[in-house]
Amino acid sequence: MGLIEHRQLIILGAGPAGLSAAIYAARAELKPLVITGMVLYGQASLTYAIENYPGFPNGIGGMQLGQLFEEQAKAFGAEFLFDEVQAVDLSKHPYTVSVSGGDYTTDALIIAMGANNKRLNVPGEEEFIGRGVSYCGTCDCRFYRDKDIHVVGGGDSALEEAIFLTRFAHSVTIIHRRDTFRAGPILENRARTNPKISFLLDSVVKEIRGHEGVDELLVENVKTGEKNIIPTDGIFIFIGHSPNTKFFEGQLEMEPGGTLKINELMETNKKGVFAAGEIADPHFRQVVTSAGMGAAAAISATRCLETMSCGF
Ligand SMILES: Cc1cc2nc3c(=O)[nH]c(=O)nc-3n(C[C@H](O)[C@H](O)[C@H](O)COP(=O)(O)OP(=O)(O)OC[C@H]3O[C@@H](n4cnc5c(N)ncnc54)[C@H](O)[C@@H]3O)c2cc1C
Repeated sequence: MGLIEHRQLIILGAGPAGLSAAIYAARAELKPLVITGMVLYGQASLTYAIENYPGFPNGIGGMQLGQLFEEQAKAFGAEFLFDEVQAVDLSKHPYTVSVSGGDYTTDALIIAMGANNKRLNVPGEEEFIGRGVSYCGTCDCRFYRDKDIHVVGGGDSALEEAIFLTRFAHSVTIIHRRDTFRAGPILENRARTNPKISFLLDSVVKEIRGHEGVDELLVENVKTGEKNIIPTDGIFIFIGHSPNTKFFEGQLEMEPGGTLKINELMETNKKGVFAAGEIADPHFRQVVTSAGMGAAAAISATRCLETMSCGF
């Protein structure tokens, strides 16, 4: 397929990072093209109430916030293409981004393709996302005040989140498929000595059940094969995080955890290629932090294009 057109700046992804980058780049008159992928507005669109994004004291729906971001970016001249990136070639400048209709070349690129939380892939999980199934303690803790909840996972993030959630929940039970933890010993000790935390070890969740929200879990002991139904008010799943980096393997440097490696200017190791949001963030993973990284990436890209400081 042939060349569609050349752009000054292409932004990959339309979650909070990509959309904020689009607002900043459009205001700088770079006429950015945003290639949205299939999840317009990103992971935030999956939640009906975001209560921790500044400026919305009564909370705002994820979709609604995304629409406002898009409207603001379009008002300054950003263009949107609802398509999925199929390949990115960073071996020569200008860089090439391939989509279903052909290729774009671009002087600079902001990669904001986000990440996916690893799923248990059990019945009920998809159905109850946002109604009792959560992948983010910071986001959803307040909905579980004085509730009895379950946390799945055995790594640092599972134990950290479980300890954090005890500030709100009445009880937190950690379900882990082994009887030892990948998390560090200090964290494990803090979890083991927390009076609100109990453990269900050698166990896996086979099904999440409920009506309006989650009511119970079907849990299997992997050693004995015994199955039990456990009542719960909610389940938090922390079994890993996969940044959407497959197009950049062998092209960009990555961190050991799989996120793209960037410096404080959001620069990757390629001139004119910036990254923002969860694809480059193993730590914070919030709408506000992703949006902040997107803004920073756009400011860096603007400086790079205006002054040619990237050195093309
Ligand atoms: C259910 C849920 C509830 C949450 N609640 C909150 C909350 O209350 N508060 C909070 O601060 N955070 C919350 N979060 C976290 C927050 O949504 C994320 O931190 C944030 O969305 C990350 O933004 P991002 O732009 O980096 O990536 P994402 O939101 O992951 O967006 C990635 C974008 O990249 C696009 N993309 C992916 N692959 C391709 C491709 N091949 N080609 C083109 N585009 C592609 C996608 O279509 C999407 O538009 C929640 C997350 C979830 C899952």
